[in-house]
Amino acid sequence: MSKYLIAGNWKMNTNLDEAKIITDGLHSFINYDSEVEMLICPPYTHLGFLSEIVDLSRISLGAQNVHYEESGAFTGEISNDMLLSVGCEYVIIGHSERRTLFCETDVNINKKVVNSLKAGLRVILCIGETLEERESGLTNSVLKEQLNIGLAGVVDTINLKIAYEPIWAIGTGRTASTDQITETHGFIAEFLKNRFGANTIKILYGGSMNSDNAKEILSILNVNGGLIGGASLKSESFLAIYNSALELC
Ligand code: PEP
Repeated sequence: MSKYLIAGNWKMNTNLDEAKIITDGLHSFINYDSEVEMLICPPYTHLGFLSEIVDLSRISLGAQNVHYEESGAFTGEISNDMLLSVGCEYVIIGHSERRTLFCETDVNINKKVVNSLKAGLRVILCIGETLEERESGLTNSVLKEQLNIGLAGVVDTINLKIAYEPIWAIGTGRTASTDQITETHGFIAEFLKNRFGANTIKILYGGSMNSDNAKEILSILNVNGGLIGGASLKSESFLAIYNSALELC
């Protein structure tokens, strides 16, 4: 099992040509290492094409969302089977932008988590608090609720990862402090240990991670990787974060 997972969430960015430029840039890098897994999560429309041109033994491919139903009258939605059929290995579920902009609830996020795991995808479940919740001392209770509901019915955790993403740190240039990350990742690790026994579930940090702060963040106890938005859109900055993880192995 790799030590770190460095995952890029491209969100609704890049056309196909731009996607190819990023992946070409990533491919040109030779220092791939089994200790650090690289994952890119482009828009749905690019997945089939990228799975043809990406060396999937060096770069894993993931989606940014999925629907929990297998098939049917769900216009505009994408199923687990569709993702698997285009070479997609991972799916991000419950990103805060899905929760706030598209009204996703812990209950429907849980349906996605359960069904994606059942389908054989690797799931990155995102959790995180708002600034108001943090300032009111509610961080741990918010995360506990997101984990309790989001993971209901989950037994086999081999394909499960958690991404802790304080909402106030996403796309803002403001990262959580080392103390905040240490405390919060410690809380999540303890929750997972109590819930599932021996805990080998990776916990990623997400929120304005970049080439300057990655090494410090990735060296914190219980930080097993990063979920990176803005800095994953340029191969140079994404590779610099990947290299920071390599240096820590
Ligand atoms: C994200 O959207 O998951 C994220 C962490 O974004 P950024 O790195 O841009 O803050």
